[in-house]
Amino acid sequence: MQRPLAGQRALITGASSGIGKAIAAALAGAGATVMINYRSGKETAEAIAHEIRESTKSAVLTHQADVSQEAEVIAMFERLQAEFGGLDILVNNAGLQRDAAFHEMTLEQWNTVIEVNLTGQFLCAREAVRCFLKQGMRPVSKALGKIIFISSVHEVIPWAGHVNYAASKGGVMLLMKSVAQEYAPLRIRVNSICPGAIRTPINRPAWETPEAYQALLKLIPYKRIGEPEDIGKAAVWLASDDSDYVTGASIFVDGGMLLYPGFESGG
Ligand code: NAP
Repeated sequence: MQRPLAGQRALITGASSGIGKAIAAALAGAGATVMINYRSGKETAEAIAHEIRESTKSAVLTHQADVSQEAEVIAMFERLQAEFGGLDILVNNAGLQRDAAFHEMTLEQWNTVIEVNLTGQFLCAREAVRCFLKQGMRPVSKALGKIIFISSVHEVIPWAGHVNYAASKGGVMLLMKSVAQEYAPLRIRVNSICPGAIRTPINRPAWETPEAYQALLKLIPYKRIGEPEDIGKAAVWLASDDSDYVTGASIFVDGGMLLYPGFESGG
């Protein structure tokens, strides 16, 4: 088995489910030591850590923290420092939806999504950059550090009924690109993976019945839903030196969702 991330330490936020879980497994499979962050569900997180440890033989820790809370994020990075001696890869994955028609959306629904999906990614990225700058270059990678934001096709596709989510992901796009620009001279690489429809609990109604699945496929030229492992593989590549010349990029892993599928038959 190739271990392109051997000797590197990775934090994956929101890794107790779906895409984050698959990324944690993929990075550990590639040789990284991994911290699984979760907000609720200690037993689930511990079970995932156990499963990944058994299948990859990599070291895996779990840590409870709400990424929207500054003090909890800082404490998580202090633990990383204490247990791993630092960090090489941050995957900013934790995210949620609170959907409502725009005219019915409460301030609480708006704030919850922005605080987790955007402010949470800011807080973790800031702590990661501080950590990279403090520890200096290590022989395990050509970069001083790598940050991967998990954004969405909705960083560019408007989404009626989900304006808080689309606004948060649009914000992530320029957060990612601005941080990438600021720290490229210091060899910190910052990129986003923008998933299309991936089979996870966040969008269960979109795939769990045959009718819903057929309707979903109208939006996907490649004619299958994405699996969390599709994102895990992209994350390994973005975290490894194979992508050493890639920074500030939004990588769409979406089966062609961005290709205006409504025009498939000529419009
Ligand atoms: P998911 O299965 O619902 O997982 C989301 C994870 O984030 C859970 O582990 C959740 O933990 C955690 N989380 C939520 N709020 C948190 C907080 N404040 N602090 C720490 N962790 C928190 O959803 P998913 O589909 O894997 O989504 C992962 C990321 O991919 C999100 O950023 C999402 O926007 C993005 N994405 C998903 C899709 C898709 O089709 N699935 C498409 C595009 C983008 P708790 O359960 O404990 O809250």
